[in-house]
Amino acid sequence: MNLRDEGLIFSTASLTWMEVASNKEPAVSDSLHLVCPHCNAVNRARAQRLQESPNCGKCHEPLFSAHPVALTGASFATHIERNDIPVLVDFWAPWCGPCKMMAPQFVQAAAMLEPRARLAKVDTEAEPALGARYGIRSIPTLALFKEGREIARQAGAMSAQDIVRWAESRL
Ligand SMILES: [Zn+2]
Repeated sequence: MNLRDEGLIFSTASLTWMEVASNKEPAVSDSLHLVCPHCNAVNRARAQRLQESPNCGKCHEPLFSAHPVALTGASFATHIERNDIPVLVDFWAPWCGPCKMMAPQFVQAAAMLEPRARLAKVDTEAEPALGARYGIRSIPTLALFKEGREIARQAGAMSAQDIVRWAESRL
């Protein structure tokens, strides 16, 4: 096998791709990866089109519907690592009174923060491994993830306005 030839083929392919991208597609920096809350497909959408309620290319459901997405052990990593927008996660449990009180506030916050951020929920009773992995000691706990890393955390129930204010101060 001739490595030099392989390198030439690779660079030619890259140039072709860049030409296509600059002529027909938006620049790479203008497009964002968004994980569908319904089917978990990774979509690519123009950043400036996010306000126009884009639909998932796979299941055709809206990528944003002003509602938090329930994450499981199977879908958590995809949403945290593949979304180019920050993901705000509410770690909660069905037996937790303050969590239930905060749930409608978190839904309201989703309407205010989308599409700048994705809001998600993790039921720590159904998904104890996720709660353990992130060392969730009290619930509700909000954790803000950006590019796969946790950048902020806040424990305790909050109003929709406080959730939005807290998230915006860290985005
Ligand atoms: Zn979808």
